[in-house]
Amino acid sequence: MDLRDLGRSNRRQILRCILKSGGLSRSDIARETGLAHSTVTEITYQLVQRGILSTREIRRSGARGRPSIVLSLNPRESLVVVADYSDLAAMAHLADPAGEILETRSLALPRSPTLKQYVAAEARLVASVARGRWDKVQGVTIVGPGVVDPQSGRLLQNSHFGWGPGSFVKPFSRFGKQTFLQNGSRLRAMAENWYGAAQDLENFLFFHLGQGIGGAIVLDGLLVAGPSHGAGEFGHVMADPKGPSCSCGGKGCLEAVASIPAIVRQLAAEECPDFAAAWNLYEAGNRSARAVFRKACLLIARSIFNAVVSVGPTTVVVGGEMVEASNGGILALVDESLREHRSFFEKISLRRCRLPENRSQVAGAVLHALQELDIERPRTP
Ligand SMILES: [Zn+2]
Repeated sequence: MDLRDLGRSNRRQILRCILKSGGLSRSDIARETGLAHSTVTEITYQLVQRGILSTREIRRSGARGRPSIVLSLNPRESLVVVADYSDLAAMAHLADPAGEILETRSLALPRSPTLKQYVAAEARLVASVARGRWDKVQGVTIVGPGVVDPQSGRLLQNSHFGWGPGSFVKPFSRFGKQTFLQNGSRLRAMAENWYGAAQDLENFLFFHLGQGIGGAIVLDGLLVAGPSHGAGEFGHVMADPKGPSCSCGGKGCLEAVASIPAIVRQLAAEECPDFAAAWNLYEAGNRSARAVFRKACLLIARSIFNAVVSVGPTTVVVGGEMVEASNGGILALVDESLREHRSFFEKISLRRCRLPENRSQVAGAVLHALQELDIERPRTP
């Protein structure tokens, strides 16, 4: 860990501590985080200068001497713009430091947009959602659709639209704000770590089961992506050697055999239009649906087991449309398969995501910006 990483890690601890409590004095922060008082003073000074934290004096009744100064987040002064996407639209949100969305703009995309069209649409939306409030904006986070390199700001691959490598961040430089790029599943994992099902965990794995299958690795409270930037892309682990080709170019990837499109496709003979209908068939005892879901959940369980053995954490946070639309039913099925796999490992425990789908990605994107901002640099208007 270099000095910059250390600084960010300290800032992460301080922000997390303040966010959890709603407001704390510097001595309380030092006590809770175990950081030196001078470190807390320096970092909180920079955060106040940047407008991310605000101070207020509190005099306890009957107490003598100087009033104590309580630090809390400054919701009006530290907004983050999040460039986001769904299957059919480009979106941009203006959000406060707690990840609450203040405003959203969206634009329909052509059926198969090019990367250039997509980035241009996002840049327009970002300009429009923050109009008149740029002085309050701390930074911009782009939710990367696919495998991204956050350091260089480049998209490495998007298998859904078939995009190859390309720059993401450049067109956003005209806003004069620091711009960050991070993968959507990693942002969700971070939000679950701060506000959701993983609040008590420093180490966990994250699986997102939906139209695609994504994942993330959190070790010592930090996201791990590895030198390839692809660590935790659990949708592309080899799940079934006899499975169909995957949009990433591989064969038998977990995403190709157990995501929503894969399940719906396998139930085409039942005239099943979407995931909710597929799950209804399963619950009604339809034989084909039962076979398809049992196999998909067995393959998800195997992938989870292999990830746990490879990476280490034994708690796995699982979310996504498949979990929500089945009201956790998918999780129970995966857990059932997982129990057959347990070996010398201590119990692998699955936890359901706690944050709503539409909030977690944005909340994670805001946290990402607050942690990564170069706060030593004076704020640009
Ligand atoms: Zn793949």
